[in-house]
Amino acid sequence: MATVTFSNIHKSYGDTKVLKGIDFQVQDGEFLVLVGPSGCGKSTLLKCLAGLNEITSGEIVIGDKVVNDLPPRDRDVAMVFQSYALYPHMTVAENMGFALKLRKEPTAVIDKAVNEAAEMLDLTALLHRYPKELSGGQRQRVAMGRAIVRRPKVFLFDEPLSNLDAKLRNQLRLELKRLHQTLGTTMVYVTHDQVEAMTLADRIAVLNGGHLQQLGTPHELFHDPANRFVAGFIGSPAMCFLDGIEDGVVTGIRPHDVKVADQGEPATVEAVESMGFESFLHLQFKGQHLTARVEGRAPEKKDLKIQFAKQYRFDPMTGERLR
Ligand code: ADP
Repeated sequence: MATVTFSNIHKSYGDTKVLKGIDFQVQDGEFLVLVGPSGCGKSTLLKCLAGLNEITSGEIVIGDKVVNDLPPRDRDVAMVFQSYALYPHMTVAENMGFALKLRKEPTAVIDKAVNEAAEMLDLTALLHRYPKELSGGQRQRVAMGRAIVRRPKVFLFDEPLSNLDAKLRNQLRLELKRLHQTLGTTMVYVTHDQVEAMTLADRIAVLNGGHLQQLGTPHELFHDPANRFVAGFIGSPAMCFLDGIEDGVVTGIRPHDVKVADQGEPATVEAVESMGFESFLHLQFKGQHLTARVEGRAPEKKDLKIQFAKQYRFDPMTGERLR
């Protein structure tokens, strides 16, 4: 078990600055999700932690050890990638035990570790199969098993569920959460999917443009975003931003904070998305777009009166949240 500390991490590829001074600590045993739009530097930061990328400046500490100059194998981390990268000529058991075999562990130790990991991941019946005889979800579980067998101080995940269909993704997401509860090991997980981030994380680090935008629990990021970027990124459907509600301020309104009422300001329904237990109304409000969430069916009429349960205020220039 270990903490991970990033201190003033900079990383450039040639002239391109990708990470521009990242500072934060992952707690011992924490499930930390790195989230942000494509190209914001999430994978780069994870690879720097794994030792697959060299940082340009700064310091990375795992536990109490500065790892800047350590090769990947000496960092005591295990990484699971989007592509499973299993050895095709080895069985599931051989794939899972390979790292221990390389370490020249006795066969009995390898078998025990492989069997325990297989049990955790429901792979016991598949141990003698080859990767080509497995579904995508099973292959990714083997890749996770291979990481577990090594008993690393920190698990690193780089979009491990992206190649799976929606149903499998939800299933494996739950399994991962359970796995974290069983193992209690520090996990750092990269995704661009904010739903995945919200459901898996103890805390989320939101990155954009090579900067850490905010670090907090899913609840904190949703209810108390630091700036317009975080407010717009976290939450689905996304927060709407309106001009002209208040002078010199951008007003942010989450769909579930819009209430259809007998009294209020006029809005017109332009489109409806019905999800069964809830509906999303796309409204025209003061010449701008606003999304409202209502329970059950959408109202029949097009002309509504609405009120806001909560409003967020942002600086139009800097995007900082105004209190
Ligand atoms: P993310 O994981 O958030 O999608 P990445 O960390 O993969 O983003 O990439 C961040 C930026 O760095 C992107 O603009 C990408 O094109 C660039 N980049 C990533 N790897 C390399 C590389 N090996 N050489 C040059 N540029 C790279």
